[in-house]
Parts: sequence; C-alpha cells; structure tokens
Amino acid sequence: MIKAIKGTKDLLPSDAPRWHYLESVVKNIFSKFNYKEIRTPVFEVTSLFARSIGEETDIVGKEMYTFEDKGGTSVTLKPEMTAGVVRAFIEHSLGAQQSLNKLFYISPMFRQERPQAGRLRQFHQFGGEAIGSSSPLLDGELIQIAYDILKALGLKDLTVKINSLGVPETRENYKNLLREFLKDKKDKLSEDSRKRFDKNILRIFDSKIESDQKLLEGAPMLIENLDEESEKDFELVKEYLTKVNIPFEVDPKLVRGLDYYTKTTFEIISGSVGAQSALLGGGRYDLLVEQLGGKPTPAVGFAAGMERILLACENENSFTVDESAIDVYLIRIDKELEMTVCEIASGLRRAGLNIDCDYLQRSVKAQMREANKFKARFALFVGGEEFEQGNLNLKNMESGEQQNIPLDDINRIINLIKA
Ligand code: AMP
Repeated sequence: MIKAIKGTKDLLPSDAPRWHYLESVVKNIFSKFNYKEIRTPVFEVTSLFARSIGEETDIVGKEMYTFEDKGGTSVTLKPEMTAGVVRAFIEHSLGAQQSLNKLFYISPMFRQERPQAGRLRQFHQFGGEAIGSSSPLLDGELIQIAYDILKALGLKDLTVKINSLGVPETRENYKNLLREFLKDKKDKLSEDSRKRFDKNILRIFDSKIESDQKLLEGAPMLIENLDEESEKDFELVKEYLTKVNIPFEVDPKLVRGLDYYTKTTFEIISGSVGAQSALLGGGRYDLLVEQLGGKPTPAVGFAAGMERILLACENENSFTVDESAIDVYLIRIDKELEMTVCEIASGLRRAGLNIDCDYLQRSVKAQMREANKFKARFALFVGGEEFEQGNLNLKNMESGEQQNIPLDDINRIINLIKA
C-alpha cells in the first residue's frame, strides 16, 4: 500500500472545520489592520532562499527540498514565505504603487526536518509582512495582530518574547564581544555550538544543551550593547505593546535562526504544546529587499505555524466548531422517484439551501439514519400517498412537527426552511 510521505499529513474532512475556522480568524484580523493577501508559488529558484535566509542557517544548510528540474534549474520548495514575498515585491514594483505594502499569506511550507511532535516536513504557516516603513509602530502592530489572532482562538497560556538584534554593525561588534567571552570555553561547548561559534555565533543561544547554557552564563548580551537608534526603536515597540495591553517579556537570548533579521525580533510561546513551544516568530528585516536586488526598503514580518497553533487550541480546548449541518435531507419513498428527488434537490440548492439525498438506493429507514448523521434540520419526504395527492411532506427534525406542502409551492418550503 502506498502511504503518505513521512512528515506529511492528510487533512481529512473531519479536520477541515477547525482549519476553516482558524483561516477565517486569520483573514478577519488581518483585514481589520488593512493587510491584503498575497500568494506566491510553492517553488522558487534555490538561490533566492540561499541569498535571503543565509547559507549557514539550519534551513538552507540542511532542511531544504531542493532538486534540479528537467531544464537543469535548481529549484526549492519554499521553506518560508518572506523570501518569496520580497521577490514578488521587487519583481512587480509593489513599492512604486504603494509606499507601504501590508501583506498577509496562508501557505504550505516544506522543510526536511526530523519529524516529531510539532515538526512536520510539509506544514502550514500564516503570516504578515509590512514592507516600506522603518516605524517600530509596525513592529508593534504585527505583534498585536499575531497576539490578537491567538487570543481570538481562545488561547490563554501565551508568552510574548521580544528582543532587539540591533543594526548589522552593532551585531558584528557584539559578535566579537561574544567570541572573546567564549574563546576560552570553546572546547567545552557541544559539537553543534562549536560549529556555530565559527559560522553563526549568535545561534549558540538557541542551544537546548544545559552545559552550553551554563557556559553562556555571564556572557555580554546584545540588548545591553545596542546602538542608540535600535534602542530608541525598541523602547517604542515596548511602549506600543504596553498601550495596547499586550504583556511581554524581554528575552535577550531570542536571536532567531535566520540571517536577515535586524532590530526587533519576537516570538510567541505556548505553554501547552510541549517542547516545540514557539507558535510563531518574526522580526524586522530592513536589509533584505536591497539584498535581493530591490531599492533599500525597511520591512517587518512574522510567520506562525498553523499545526502547532491548532495543537495548542486542542490541548487548551480553546474553541469548538459546530459540526456542519445540512438544511434538508430528501427522503425518497418510491424507487421510481429518484430523478424527481434530484430535480427538487436541485431547485432547493439553487435557492441557497444545503441539500443532500440518497444515491445508494437505500431504504427509507436507512435514509432517515443518513439525515440524522448529517444533522439535517429538515427531512423532505418524496413519495407515498402524499405525493400522489401532489404534496411533499416536510419534517422538522428537532420538533418532529410534520406538514404537507403542495409540490408546486416549492417557495413555501424554501421560506419555511430559511425562517
Ligand atoms: P520559523 O519560520 O522557523 O521562524 O517558524 C515559524 C513557526 O512556524 C514556528 O514557530 C512553528 O510554529 C512553525 N514551524 C516551523 N517549522 C515547522 C515544522 N517543521 N513543522 C511544523 N511547524 C513548523
């Protein structure tokens, strides 16, 4: 038997209502802040990701689904959205049409990670990108959008963490400070952290290994060595969050995995999903547009993992969705009325109702069972004596009340059902 690829998941009809609900909350809240949807292709040329995310990051270094197409071009299934959005922003000169572009997306992403709880190889993210302003108020706005979405889903156990990585010069200076601090301790670091020491030293803070964290105790912190501008912006982000009642923690160790971040970074953590606890992450990326060949354009964004958010919602039992119900199930009493049933069903559907009927020549009893299974509000009986007298029998499934309605007065049925 052929099975789905490891780390991928089917979303079955029983999962769909929760996804629809999540997507509707996302769209609704982004709309309140006037963000417009963008959709980019699932695959892009590989160099786009290598150049934006950074060669030394986990994503580019080991997790990308990269292959050569028949024309010999190296293409990659998108591991994240920002690179594609920025590519589209430049390619379509969106900046010339609109000085600030506020965009959101919902899309599958692909990373060849070791599958585990909360880590898939095809997963879904929603996110927002505001391209064209360096205002820290937009950093605040995006954190607020992210937070409001999670709150609207009913989640409670949330921690907003923020940090600032400063401008690149600040970061380079700081990296030297950190290198100096860790120089004598390098041999004691884990193998992964030793590699990071040479390639991407900030990421040592991401290490989950206790001995690494012990070695970092007393290290100088980037947040204490910020340039004046980054510090001022960071204060404004904090002020914004305070004004809109979003509790937050400053986490000086929040460095995030991608190379393109500058100044503000943030994450929202859930206490109810286990080890992979980051529901979303983001930050400012003021240099990326230029780095990908566009005019210098400051930007800020975040990406949220939808599977992880739904897991948190499930664990917190934070929302329930009504099981979808149909308006009417048509019950065919006489076998030869099959086509008549289709005709009536069709009229009711075109009038805007959700209708189903039997296609398996089932008995009346079995059709009633179906009507109950689909939580039909009404059953409409087609056949028997009533039909011979030119009537249909409409049964309200909740009250049990039944009434005959002339076949040529379908509008009455529609009105009764819509009432
Ligand atoms: P990132 O783009 O790595 O900053 O991730 C942003 C969010 O996407 C994370 O906080 C997770 O919720 C989600 N995410 C990232 N990688 C995966 C994955 N492999 N499987 C499921 N969710 C993921």
